[in-house]
Amino acid sequence: MKKLEDYIITIPDFPEPGIQFRDVTSVLQNGDGLCLAINRLQELLDGVSFDVLAGTESRGFLFGMPLAYNLHKPFVPIRKKGKLPRETVAKEFSLEYGTATIEIHKDAILPGQKVVLIDDLIATGGTMKAAAELVEELGGEVVKMIFLIELAGLKAREILKDYSIASVITYEGK
Ligand code: AMP
Repeated sequence: MKKLEDYIITIPDFPEPGIQFRDVTSVLQNGDGLCLAINRLQELLDGVSFDVLAGTESRGFLFGMPLAYNLHKPFVPIRKKGKLPRETVAKEFSLEYGTATIEIHKDAILPGQKVVLIDDLIATGGTMKAAAELVEELGGEVVKMIFLIELAGLKAREILKDYSIASVITYEGK
């Protein structure tokens, strides 16, 4: 039986020199890999009480939606600038490569709701920090952040020290 790690293909120097790109499409394109990924992510939420699952574009949607469906929770997409049609709040942040702005619909989170954030991978933590700030701007409380993959060498846990973080697979380097 293959481990989840066996389904992840690493591409050196993509999309820029020096980046080791951890590809999750190779997980999704295998039925066993897909089930394993969703089941292992879902285990990270055992015992966690929450109201809303919010995922960041775009791979956070791929892993967030099956979890939200399984757990009968609402799913909220946090999207790149300009994609959401109704009133939004926005946040600009730095990426491992470049900068970006993300947005959330203003009515997607109600004050006091407990929110879990999900993405496929955490690198520097910049995306998640911005996502958490958006949730908090709407009055939500981030109770957990979950990831399929964590690149521990980029030390996201330092900038996200106020949050509870869990990952299925941790790579020690970048
Ligand atoms: P960060 O904001 O630095 O934590 O970057 C996280 C986002 O960038 C996630 O949405 C990832 O999908 C993507 N990302 C960053 N670094 C990598 C990498 N080495 N391999 C694959 N995806 C990455």
